[in-house]
Amino acid sequence: MYHVDKHGYYGHFGGAYVPEILHRCVTELQEIYLETLESASFGQEYEALLHDYVGRPSPLYPARRLSRKYDCRIYLKREDLNHTGAHKINNTIGQILLARRMKKTRIIAETGAGQHGLAAATVCALMGMECIVYMGKTDVERQHINVQKMKMLGAKVIPVTSGNMTLKDAANEAIRDWCCHPSDTYYIIGSTVGPHPYPDMVARLQSVISKEIRQQLQEKEGLNYPDYLIACVGGGSNAAGTIYHYVDDQRVKIVLSEAGGEGLRSGRSAATIRLGRQGIIHGARTLVMQTDDGQIEEPYSISAGLDYPGIGPMHAHLWETKRATVLSVNDDEALAAAFELTRLEGIIPALESAHALGALNKLSFRPEDIVVLTLSGRGDKDMDTYILNKEMTE
Ligand SMILES: *Cc1c(COP(=O)(O)O)cnc(C)c1O
Repeated sequence: MYHVDKHGYYGHFGGAYVPEILHRCVTELQEIYLETLESASFGQEYEALLHDYVGRPSPLYPARRLSRKYDCRIYLKREDLNHTGAHKINNTIGQILLARRMKKTRIIAETGAGQHGLAAATVCALMGMECIVYMGKTDVERQHINVQKMKMLGAKVIPVTSGNMTLKDAANEAIRDWCCHPSDTYYIIGSTVGPHPYPDMVARLQSVISKEIRQQLQEKEGLNYPDYLIACVGGGSNAAGTIYHYVDDQRVKIVLSEAGGEGLRSGRSAATIRLGRQGIIHGARTLVMQTDDGQIEEPYSISAGLDYPGIGPMHAHLWETKRATVLSVNDDEALAAAFELTRLEGIIPALESAHALGALNKLSFRPEDIVVLTLSGRGDKDMDTYILNKEMTE
């Protein structure tokens, strides 16, 4: 009931709203993705690369000092330890294998913080394929190291100068490119957004996270489900992967953490689920931050990876059906949570992941509660922001 239906919808969210010229590409993908992802030969290739190249399974780490602080039993799912530093690579490995099977030769991708662009450039280098990454000019400037890494990997990074020059604008430009090259180009979308089948395909490729959580909890706790799952949401892919095998299990509470920016009512926020209304963005019907006359509103978050005015249709549905609790965590709360994790556990988290950590003191746990929180990425890319805010530790 929480997974996609055969028309590509989650409740009344989802679908494939694309220009006529992309209709064939999207239909072709819809027709082959399930069969391909479920085939034994794809599974073998995908799992071998996840194991030998990405370094999976990622650890499920019992965070003892953090648990003592919040008086419950917290495990961190360590996606920060993956090759390239985040969960994004789980998805790009799967999609590049699919693109290769479809005999596509040219790969395009959009990126915000640069983590998806980096993961796409990485798998293109691995497979010897051409890679073009669209990135808002604002993000090119604030995520300089990731741009240099993508270039070193052989990708062409195209700065986008429309809108406020961030993730939404990069995605617009990638779709425009796809329209011009529908036959030889494969578009690797970086999250559970876009036209059907992307949200479901990306969720399935990230579902290795909850598959591992189930096994690891069984080994460590002797039961295979937690009381709480907590993840941050930008477009929703690390959250979708975290909850995938648990969405129908009502024993498990799902907590999604959005970027509140400077506050829900500040006019500077990226809390799309809380602030959005139904609309269409990048090919899907979902919740969208928009003005009264339907113009997309520019989002704001300290974290470039969460700075997006839409949300996956799956997550919009989880919110509408009350299956998930959605919290908004502001910039200052995420920063404080990042410094806290660093000092308690010796782990510097990505700013996006720090929004999941910022949910901990908004919830009330029982001491016996088992809480699994996904640490979607590592903090290396965010050191400039942490250095600017280091007075928080003093
Ligand atoms: C991209 C990114 C996110 C946000 O994307 P989702 O699709 O919502 O997971 C979160 N954390 C990190 C580290 C990222 O790189």
